[in-house]
Amino acid sequence: MSATTPSSVRIVEVGPRDGLQNEAKPVATEDKFTFVRLLAEAGVREIELTSFVRPDAIPQLADAAALAERVRAHGFSDAVRLSALVPNMRGLEAALAAGIPEVAVFLATSDRFSERNIRATVEESFTRIAPVIAHALQSGLRVRGYLSTVYGCPYEGKVEPQKVLRLSERLLEMGVYEVSLGDTTGIATPGQVEAVLGLLLAIIPAHRLAGHFHDTRGMALANILTAWKMGITTFDASAGGLGGCPYATGASGNVATEEVVALLESLGAPTGISLPKLVEASAFMLDRLGRESPSKLHRVLASTAAAH
Ligand code: MG
Repeated sequence: MSATTPSSVRIVEVGPRDGLQNEAKPVATEDKFTFVRLLAEAGVREIELTSFVRPDAIPQLADAAALAERVRAHGFSDAVRLSALVPNMRGLEAALAAGIPEVAVFLATSDRFSERNIRATVEESFTRIAPVIAHALQSGLRVRGYLSTVYGCPYEGKVEPQKVLRLSERLLEMGVYEVSLGDTTGIATPGQVEAVLGLLLAIIPAHRLAGHFHDTRGMALANILTAWKMGITTFDASAGGLGGCPYATGASGNVATEEVVALLESLGAPTGISLPKLVEASAFMLDRLGRESPSKLHRVLASTAAAH
């Protein structure tokens, strides 16, 4: 990278899905739509809209089809890429019916986490998602892969980096364009990021990997900085830090998009996102949820904007 041409970065906004699925308060479909519209107006170019799951499994996202229909009726610019998480073939069929152009599938590194989360071991998950990926690709969709619990499992503890490498390679071989490496419980440290990515990047090109960091222990930005310096240029984030941590009551979950934008832009890596407009989008949804952002940066920017 030369000093005069900073490499751009990709931010995948997961607030509408990962954020809202972890918020206790239900949100009206029209408010979700407005949130997504405001995000797009702020310059966010990739948005994970929802998840096509059984309504009883995640009631917060039970309106997936209605939201997708609302978004389609509005007609976003082609510059905005929308995606949805699908846990199985049924979810994929629903995403296809809703006209979603990209889907994400997920897998965990450890059997115990996977069994608790989706009642399937890691191997059973592969068996489940293989036909989903194949059918999505045949249908002309792009497929992203999430790998959860990359830096440790809340039930099994340490996860071997070699295992992360093996699972990532298998996902890529199955046709996902990118593997998003999830620090699901927010326990990663920069030292660990160096160790895991050091191993993976010796084999897998950086553009096939993304970082999905949580700020549960306040380490998200340090981890993102570490990953970026090692060549990772795609990061998942949730506007305003929406969504808590399902493993620690009251704690932070996904890193706030505001913080990732501010960090990367300060290093000369353009994100294309307007920070003031992003704060507006986050503030709109936080107001609907009746809660404060866990992000210090969001709170400062929101109060500064209010003072003007
Ligand atoms: Mg997350």
